[in-house]
Amino acid sequence: MCPHRGETQKVQIHTVVRGGMDADPFVWDDGEVAPGETAHVRFPVSETYLGDTVAAPVTIVCGERSGPTVFLTAAVHGDELNGVEVVREVAQEWDHDAVHGTLVCLPVVNTLGFVTQQRYLPVQDRDLNRAFPGRSGSTSAKRIAHQIYEQFLSQCDLGIDFHTSTRGRTNMFHVRAEMDDDEVARLARAFGTNLIMDTDGSEGMLRRELSDAGVPTITVEMGEAHRFERELIDHALAGVESVFAEYGVYPDREVRWPGWRTTVSGWDDKTWLRADSGGIVEVHAGRGALVREGERVCTITNPFKTEKTVVEAPFTGVVVGVLENPVVYPGNPLCHLASVERDVQQAIESARAGDAPGGGDVPAAAE
Ligand SMILES: [Zn+2]
Repeated sequence: MCPHRGETQKVQIHTVVRGGMDADPFVWDDGEVAPGETAHVRFPVSETYLGDTVAAPVTIVCGERSGPTVFLTAAVHGDELNGVEVVREVAQEWDHDAVHGTLVCLPVVNTLGFVTQQRYLPVQDRDLNRAFPGRSGSTSAKRIAHQIYEQFLSQCDLGIDFHTSTRGRTNMFHVRAEMDDDEVARLARAFGTNLIMDTDGSEGMLRRELSDAGVPTITVEMGEAHRFERELIDHALAGVESVFAEYGVYPDREVRWPGWRTTVSGWDDKTWLRADSGGIVEVHAGRGALVREGERVCTITNPFKTEKTVVEAPFTGVVVGVLENPVVYPGNPLCHLASVERDVQQAIESARAGDAPGGGDVPAAAE
């Protein structure tokens, strides 16, 4: 909630003019950021029952030099926090003196969900990530989505939306993207994760609606809700830097190669292993682990440990997502498993054995 309606605070970031000031300002309905300036904006998106303004924080870094306009969004699901820190660090801690283009950074898109630490918009329990591109005069969720989409996201050339698994589960660090769109595929590869999930996404999803509208957008999945996981945040920062290198935002940086990469598409290549009995779960394979066909993934036991159900991998694959909260009803998901080809299995094993770099030095042609 913001006492200062639509407050904008501008910071001059560049004190030295190097020439080539060919960049355009970033303009939205209520403001403008000139080349060489950074603006911190509390952008009104809704109002509380008391009529107080609900505002989303937005930082716009407008470089002196022309280049793409890139958005970074997080906490579209209000309790998914890892991305919040990624976006804040890029916006506030990176040196943007040499940035080519404009960065539009929204660390907390779902402000109401964030303050209540819930995935969905509170009260109506609406999923903001099914409300894009939104519509004025519609539901609360669609009005919020509409303003953010119209004023900021649709003005960009590409974007990255950061998520985590839902509460009680954790996700391996990976990208989700519509890989039959060449521009989206370029962005997905540039981010440099081991695993890319090739999915269209659901209707109303931020990445799908923007990609369909010609703004290539990927989702980054990383870890679990309600946490800052430093190692994953660092991986994601390296991914953002790699994207900035690919698109010339930071032309002197390098696009990274993650050591091995696999793209998984369709339900033939992946499955959710579900519990067939209620109970207490011991997980034998953590997120990102390679498990062999027939290997134990989880064991479900009754309170006395007198009965147990062993859940085995139906095929050799990578654990993309897995239970963290170790209790299940029948039908609850235990593990999200994606199959991998033999050459990728070998690459994973040699990377783990230290024979190959985990992130950067092997040329992309090795893919
Ligand atoms: Zn999410």
